[in-house]
Amino acid sequence: MNIKDHIRSIPDFPKPGILFYDISTLLAHAEAWKDAVGQLADAVKPYKPDVLVGIESRGFLVAAPLALTLGLGFVMIRKRGKLPGDIITHNYDLEYGSDTIEIQADAIKPGARVVVCDDLLATGGTMVAAINLLRSVGAEVVAAQFLIELAFLKGAEKLDVPVNSLVSYE
Ligand code: IMP
Repeated sequence: MNIKDHIRSIPDFPKPGILFYDISTLLAHAEAWKDAVGQLADAVKPYKPDVLVGIESRGFLVAAPLALTLGLGFVMIRKRGKLPGDIITHNYDLEYGSDTIEIQADAIKPGARVVVCDDLLATGGTMVAAINLLRSVGAEVVAAQFLIELAFLKGAEKLDVPVNSLVSYE
C-alpha cells in the first residue's frame, strides 16, 4: 500500500502560495488508514514508549489509534483554554506573533518515555514547542512521529530527538 496515493495536495490553502497536504482522503479510506496505522505502530514500537502524546488537532488522529494499537495511553497537547483542571502552559514564537500550547499537569508521570505525534512536520516549530512543554513536566521524549514530512523545509534539523515519518516530500 502506498500511503502517498491517498494523500491529496491542495494549492493555495490556507493562503495563496501554500500547497496544503490533506490527509482527509487517507482517513476516509478504511484499508489505507489501517495500513498506515500499522506502519506507524511498527515505527514507534522500538522506542518502547510508556505513553503517546498527540498535538491538537490532527496529531490526535495519529496518536489515538496508534495508542490503542500499541496498548498505550494517549495524552493531548491542546491550544490555549481547552483543557480543564491544573494546566501547564508553554508560549512560543511564530514567524509572526506567538502561540500557546497546554497540557494537564498530571498527564505525564515524571520520567515517562513519550513519543509525540503529529500529522505533518513542516518547519518544526510546533514539535519543538511540544517537546519543550513535555520536558517541562518531566517527560523523557524518546521520538517524534509524523505521517508526513516536508523534508525540503528541514524541520527535522530543529529536533533533538529521533524523527520518523511515513512519507516524505523532497
Ligand atoms: P510546523 O510547526 O511549521 O512544523 O508546522 C506543522 C504544523 O502545521 C502541524 O501541526 C500541521 O498539522 C500543520 N501543517 C502545516 N502544513 C500543513 C499541511 O500542508 N497539511 C496539514 N497540516 C499542515
